[in-house]
Amino acid sequence: MTGYSSLKRIVDIITDLSNSTPECAKEKYPEFPSLSGHIASLFSKDHLHDVLPRLRLQLRIVERYNPPIRPALDPYSSTQLGIFSKNFSDWEVGLFLNYPACCIRSFSEEVRYGFDSRHLEELSSLREEVVFVSTAGFVPHSIFCKEASERALIGFLKLDDLQLLNDLEEELSRALPHPHPEYQKHYYDILTHDTQH
Ligand SMILES: [Zn+2]
Repeated sequence: MTGYSSLKRIVDIITDLSNSTPECAKEKYPEFPSLSGHIASLFSKDHLHDVLPRLRLQLRIVERYNPPIRPALDPYSSTQLGIFSKNFSDWEVGLFLNYPACCIRSFSEEVRYGFDSRHLEELSSLREEVVFVSTAGFVPHSIFCKEASERALIGFLKLDDLQLLNDLEEELSRALPHPHPEYQKHYYDILTHDTQH
């Protein structure tokens, strides 16, 4: 998967939910029934009218940059969809966002809600001068998680290659302003060798 196809997969599901009844949504997406039913129900009440135009715009921008790693879903849309609320389990939200089970388990059951000393130890075991990049909000069970890498959620880049991601973050925040304080110009998490926390 590329960053673009990984994002497109989510936008396609949301588009599908916009045309589904909550009952159909739950049946069609048994891995995240409460969340899919909730999203379908919000669409049917016309509470999400601005979400699809924003996500389509995000998709067009991401397609143009073609990043190797998927940026976080538009934070405004995530808020509207209920992804940041505590109403849905980590499993439902994780599976909706196509996170691998090994990483959801480590996040949810080992309470690894952010990058910790184990991630940093893994990073320091690398000889090469690379930076580690992940989709903002996604915490892999290991920075070497194969499945997360295949799903374009994590990757290693050379320092010089970060410019593309910085430019993409810049353009996304200009094109899609939102009030979420934690995610201003923050679509990726980046770890470098000398990160102290
Ligand atoms: Zn994993």
